[in-house]
Amino acid sequence: MTVVRLFAKRPGGRVPAAALPLVHRGICKLCLKARNLQDSHYLPRSVYKSNRGRALKNQNPVALGAQIRQDQEQVTDYVLCSECEQRFNKNGERWVLARVPHDYGEPFELQATLEKETPFHIEPGLNLYAGTQISAFNMDRLVYFASSVFWRGAVHQWKTSRGEIAFKVELGKHAEGLRKFLLGQEPFPQDLWLTVIVWPFRQVLNAGLVPRPDSQNGWNRYWFYVSGLGFVLHFGDAVPAEIKLRCAQNTPQRVITVERAFGDILLDLLRAEIRAGETPELRALVEQINQVRAKDNSAIPPSIVRSSRS
Ligand SMILES: [Zn+2]
Repeated sequence: MTVVRLFAKRPGGRVPAAALPLVHRGICKLCLKARNLQDSHYLPRSVYKSNRGRALKNQNPVALGAQIRQDQEQVTDYVLCSECEQRFNKNGERWVLARVPHDYGEPFELQATLEKETPFHIEPGLNLYAGTQISAFNMDRLVYFASSVFWRGAVHQWKTSRGEIAFKVELGKHAEGLRKFLLGQEPFPQDLWLTVIVWPFRQVLNAGLVPRPDSQNGWNRYWFYVSGLGFVLHFGDAVPAEIKLRCAQNTPQRVITVERAFGDILLDLLRAEIRAGETPELRALVEQINQVRAKDNSAIPPSIVRSSRS
């Protein structure tokens, strides 16, 4: 990538270079055209902008690499042209981010909708819903949004201005299929499976976590979390049939998952990582995590996951 400084001419002479914006000229990673590149975000900007807790000071955790920090540090770099940024916004981000809570106590429309719906599959700690049957869910937007974040993690090494490195999403041969899907040139790849998870507790954890690996025996798995929604991408030879049947794209029902274990695992992970690098600010976050659990455990039912049909 080259960095070009613009010297716009004014009557009477040149404007001092320091007063002018930088233009980052380069190849857009999505459309592969030589363009002026935007300062692209790994997770959409509004995740950071609107996720500020008003009741508590500095309560927004963002996880990068092995570190979780509670701050507004945004992860950006010059990756996409403005046309492709708009494409991401229009096809996924705008819809998704308008439907998740951005502070504690805000309504979570998607979760509230599911509480009124009947799952097509129920087992302890797990409810599956047919996304095609629930008009409040736009499965295309959800799948596009998740795909765009995983793909961003595959085609660029993201880091913060502090130099913290995000996990690379090692998509290998799947990156190109996903790129063409995001451009609208091909359908979602048949050899990728995406789980869309709605947060199982009524008090939604107010956080944004960039993708991280969680590989299983014989298959690859990456996941990220944004304010009440978790997304897991699976690929590889040994992806179990059970996982494939929960795909939000490559199944007839376009499945929405509510799984208590996802909430538990995420809360435990945050707590463990926070303990490892504890600071006064992060101790406040552990307190919040405890509150999420305490509130849900004192409520009846303990979470929105049903254990049987009623
Ligand atoms: Zn582009």
